[in-house]
Amino acid sequence: MADDHVAYPCPYCGEASLEAAATLPYVRGYVLAFHFGSKKIVGCTKCVRLQLLKETGISSAIGWFSPTALVSNPFLLVYGLARTALVTRNPAAVRKQLSDAGIPEPQGELSLVRIGYSLAASMIAADSRIEPEEVATAAEIGVQIFKDFDKAEFNKVVANHQNLPEPAELATLLSGVLTDDGKDAVYGFLLAIASSDDDLAKEERELLDVVAENMKLRPAA
Ligand SMILES: [Zn+2]
Repeated sequence: MADDHVAYPCPYCGEASLEAAATLPYVRGYVLAFHFGSKKIVGCTKCVRLQLLKETGISSAIGWFSPTALVSNPFLLVYGLARTALVTRNPAAVRKQLSDAGIPEPQGELSLVRIGYSLAASMIAADSRIEPEEVATAAEIGVQIFKDFDKAEFNKVVANHQNLPEPAELATLLSGVLTDDGKDAVYGFLLAIASSDDDLAKEERELLDVVAENMKLRPAA
């Protein structure tokens, strides 16, 4: 059945096609502070289950260090394990995540600027704090790189960042979709955002390296 799977390879095993999507809530405690977050995962059924188990494992290892996290984490762990058992093929959910991220199905129409919004939003949200100045700077850079960049549209994508897969996963999906020039433009956008506050933090550098590697960026000339 043509509708049964989405014709992209799973970003984890690279073999099976995209079949399942899941959102996993987690909580991380830092002695007294804590934060709740959630992670979007798309892949083949087997890999999505595996990733959920891994994430649940991470939650159980580092989710305990504050009183609030101590109370909520057991519930999230149980949720994580139950959610893992419930992963089934769900092409509709996969399609929804791809379209939220601006990634068309093969043969669909690709909008480079939409992909720029998604990757930038997902990168800005990667450290779990969205700083308004960072978003404004990203928009200023965006209008210089993409002629059809729309700030209002970008702000909308940032506000809905929880619908986006992680930057590393997005980059893997994009490796087979974007042309070399498209990859250069999108990566240049991310690099400019990350460098805009003068110091390129170690985590930003690492994230950019993973994105470059996963999207199979050609080596810089
Ligand atoms: Zn897989």
